[in-house]
Amino acid sequence: MKNLKDLVRPNIWALKPYSSARDEYKGFEASVFLDANESAYNNGINRYPDPLQLKVKTQLAEIKGVDAENIFLGNGSDEAIDLVYRVFCEPGKDNVVAISPTYGMYEVCADINNVEYRSVSLSSEFYLKSQDILDATDNNTKAIFVCSPNNPTGNAFPTEQIDYILQNFEGIVVVDEAYIDYSPFDSYRFRLKDFPNLIVLQTFSKAWGAAALRLGIAFASKQIIDLYNKVKYPYNVNFLTQQRALEVMAGKDDVARQISETVRERERLSKKLSSLACVKHVFTSDANFILARVDDACEKYDTLVRKGIIVRNRHRVQLCQDCLRITIGLPEENDILIAELEKI
Ligand SMILES: *Cc1c(COP(=O)(O)O)cnc(C)c1O
Repeated sequence: MKNLKDLVRPNIWALKPYSSARDEYKGFEASVFLDANESAYNNGINRYPDPLQLKVKTQLAEIKGVDAENIFLGNGSDEAIDLVYRVFCEPGKDNVVAISPTYGMYEVCADINNVEYRSVSLSSEFYLKSQDILDATDNNTKAIFVCSPNNPTGNAFPTEQIDYILQNFEGIVVVDEAYIDYSPFDSYRFRLKDFPNLIVLQTFSKAWGAAALRLGIAFASKQIIDLYNKVKYPYNVNFLTQQRALEVMAGKDDVARQISETVRERERLSKKLSSLACVKHVFTSDANFILARVDDACEKYDTLVRKGIIVRNRHRVQLCQDCLRITIGLPEENDILIAELEKI
């Protein structure tokens, strides 16, 4: 990896962050708080929240087996993705490289930040071409995005292929693990010590069952987390989200059962789909959705919509011609989908 200083935008490296009242006095044991111009009338939400979400991070650190200082929490993964650009990429000069097809937010954030976005096609079977990705980089490439398990293809990439990118690229490598809980592969969050250039993204939006909270996670070196904290909005995760996140984590045994059921249903649905006449191919999935190639995805999509069943039509996405992306539902919802497809 290059020196961190050479990867970070000079204005961000020099930035003196906003210092809030809660940054300047961190204790909670005082009894009279007259420093933040909040209303003094207690209604449960009159005080500013903890800007660094320490309670949430402490509990998450224990669950994830990672130190709290290696965790950033944001307003969805979207914030953690946007910060890759705002911290590392000089608009109009730097670029990032990502795979295609993949999650759309990497490109949207690049466009918003006026950063060149280079995409490298997966193979037609959705294999990662690590050397092609490295070949697409140049001196102005600040980050590579790899989503594994990948959205919308569903497959996770072999560890050696992601390691190869991490070992041979001098900039930041972002591994988006939004779907890791459904995957047999190990998380890269355990590899932070091997790779100082690694940022691992996870989220409360999928397996944790809390998409409405808007809580995304980045795991990285303390140096990178410090930069993220310097640039984020001072109170980027609101009090109600922090409070509910603690409750969600307390229910982790329920979540584990839901994950097992979803994985079982994924295998059941994959088999069923493969047996249907209108389905040409079901791709292997390590996530909570299945990508399936059908004959005439647009027509099948419309037919399902008329029955009140909404899947995602990925026909226009690179390499995904005539593919539908189907999220695994409750067993009875999956039965309804199967029953409708059998009639077609
Ligand atoms: C769903 C998803 C996310 C989650 O985004 P949030 O902003 O945390 O809801 C992140 N990455 C990928 C690839 C996803 O599919």
